[in-house]
Amino acid sequence: MPLIEARHVTKVFGPRPEQALARLKAGASKDDVLAEYGNTVGLYDVSLSVERGEIFVVMGLSGSGKSTLIRHFNRLIDPTEGEILVDGENILSLSIRELEGFRRRKTGMVFQRFGLFPHRTVLQNVAYGLEVRGEGRSEREKKAAEWVATVGLAGYEDQYPSQLSGGMQQRVGLARALCTDPEILLMDEAFSALDPLIRSQMQDQLIELQARLKKTIVFITHDLDEALRLGDRIAILKDGALSQVGTPAEILLNPADAYVRAFVKDVNRARVLTVDVVMKPPPLRLTDETLEQALAEMQSCGADLGYVINAHGYRGVVTRDALNDAIANDDKPTVEQIAVTTPSIGPEASLAEALPATLASAYPVAVIGSDGGLEGILSADRVGEILTPPEERAAAE
Ligand code: ADP
Repeated sequence: MPLIEARHVTKVFGPRPEQALARLKAGASKDDVLAEYGNTVGLYDVSLSVERGEIFVVMGLSGSGKSTLIRHFNRLIDPTEGEILVDGENILSLSIRELEGFRRRKTGMVFQRFGLFPHRTVLQNVAYGLEVRGEGRSEREKKAAEWVATVGLAGYEDQYPSQLSGGMQQRVGLARALCTDPEILLMDEAFSALDPLIRSQMQDQLIELQARLKKTIVFITHDLDEALRLGDRIAILKDGALSQVGTPAEILLNPADAYVRAFVKDVNRARVLTVDVVMKPPPLRLTDETLEQALAEMQSCGADLGYVINAHGYRGVVTRDALNDAIANDDKPTVEQIAVTTPSIGPEASLAEALPATLASAYPVAVIGSDGGLEGILSADRVGEILTPPEERAAAE
């Protein structure tokens, strides 16, 4: 079961949303509805799921409905139509009291403008959620101090927000959101106000924290690079409607529509995509076959190449010709002895890192996992195909 599920969520702002909703269902656009009724469409028929433990990025231009969407997840906004389920429970049916408890226990929020209390120290800001929860002072300050240290601000506990840089203030915002140990962290353009260098440090820190904490993070951004860097999956909104949900690789390789295609057109794919998402399965694995067996297997599966692996790991590649020659050879070498060593690469390498090896090798290079196993193969042709933008690929076909 997903942790958060939005089912056919539509939000129409302004009075008498029902008539606008009826027009939308009859096919009217966001602009039509605004012109005819003065209602703004925040979201239209959005259905998606957020899985436990993932960083789910919501991306789109300004006004596309990103904030409106995540404010449904803690019911800061009620939908005009549709349902929001958290842990399988419809949060629209919570009483006000239950809703307060839900927000306090389950969710934490980090805002673009930090939203810190100026007259409270760093420690008091971070401890705020625990204070609201009624925890005793020494207990909450102890926990808060741990979070302050976790985000790298030990020593700044007694400073006030105005004494800190933007990046440091946002770390306080992050520590404050994490201090109540929420399952869901909602981050609304949390890094967008920061300078590029600080921003990229904060992205690194979030990735590193997430590897340890395994929260469910819903992260809003209008920045595609940030989305690709942080997102396990990315949802792309346009004018309140969902264009696509997918992994960074799916979005780059199979954009769902012209809008997404235009968005991803200028992305440096070689830097973003990793070997494991584009590699192919090995045509044939050879372990301890004789030359004749290897040749027979190769013929029966129609492969021209076999990848030789033994107990010590990957040994190299054999071709049909090499097998035929070896069979005719009186010395009767083993398959392993005639294997030609090729470069190998790791599955986590970027295509940019993998490219030199694939170009230098006469055969597709072996992709070897950390346990020494053969996970796949990658050819220079495959890399070339992937790095060609979809519109050029379409033109070439
Ligand atoms: P984003 O976060 O992608 O910039 P928003 O979710 O803030 O987009 O806004 C989506 C649309 O809803 C925009 O057209 C915006 O003007 C409108 N909107 C957002 N909040 C309100 C509101 N409280 N009242 C009226 N319109 C709103």
